[in-house]
Amino acid sequence: MKRILLASALLLTVTVNAFATDAPSASAVPPMAAVAPTPKTPKLVEPHLHIARSNVAGHARIALTFDACMGQADERILSTLVRERIPATIFVTARWLKRNPAAVAVFLQHPDLFELENHGENHIPAVDTPALIYGIASAGSPQAVRQEVEGGAAAMVAAGIPAPHWFRGSTAKYDLSAIGEIRAMGYRIAGYSVNGDGGSLLGAVITEKRIASAKDGDVVISHINQPTHAAGEGVAKALVDLKAKGVEFVRLEDVEDTGDEKTTE
Ligand SMILES: [Zn+2]
Repeated sequence: MKRILLASALLLTVTVNAFATDAPSASAVPPMAAVAPTPKTPKLVEPHLHIARSNVAGHARIALTFDACMGQADERILSTLVRERIPATIFVTARWLKRNPAAVAVFLQHPDLFELENHGENHIPAVDTPALIYGIASAGSPQAVRQEVEGGAAAMVAAGIPAPHWFRGSTAKYDLSAIGEIRAMGYRIAGYSVNGDGGSLLGAVITEKRIASAKDGDVVISHINQPTHAAGEGVAKALVDLKAKGVEFVRLEDVEDTGDEKTTE
């Protein structure tokens, strides 16, 4: 019953506001005191990114990207990439770098395979107004977005990694003003076109299927920081599947790309 009343109150508010072109008179505004004030939700986008196709039958060109958000390194994936000599772009946070020096050393030992890029300092969504995204509090201000980006880059350089040129924020969601800010800092923003592992929460079979079905020009996102999740097993299998199909693996720095939502132009 409470819910029905609340819904009616909201409906009434929307209706009233829809016609309130001038400042509404106090009497026209329904009593809102009972409804807890919620912060205005910013418009969020989850940009897409594609790379230039090979247009060669049987040799689809695919960019594999992996996020290393926090936690550990997934050796199932890392060892497959190295063993099969599959190039990939890895987005690392400062937090992850600190906890995983051994995996970082492997990346740095194989500069021909791994391009390392910026996933932020503390894995805070690059949204410049307060919001909750999958339960994670956004940066909340332009200054905090800048800190997230700059802090990630500084940690990379301190770890001996070349200065990054791409940024992908936590949750891969942004508001448009944060995209503009990050672009003005000189970064391209890495969307994706295939969600490989559903935030590392999918099962092994479905993950393998999703990644192995990537097409010419696709940018695949998955995670390399959840060694206990089933998804990583599917990722590792899909790498071998794709290689067997004759896929040309490229890193973001190797090819032309097209991102929407003003993320790359
Ligand atoms: Zn992440």
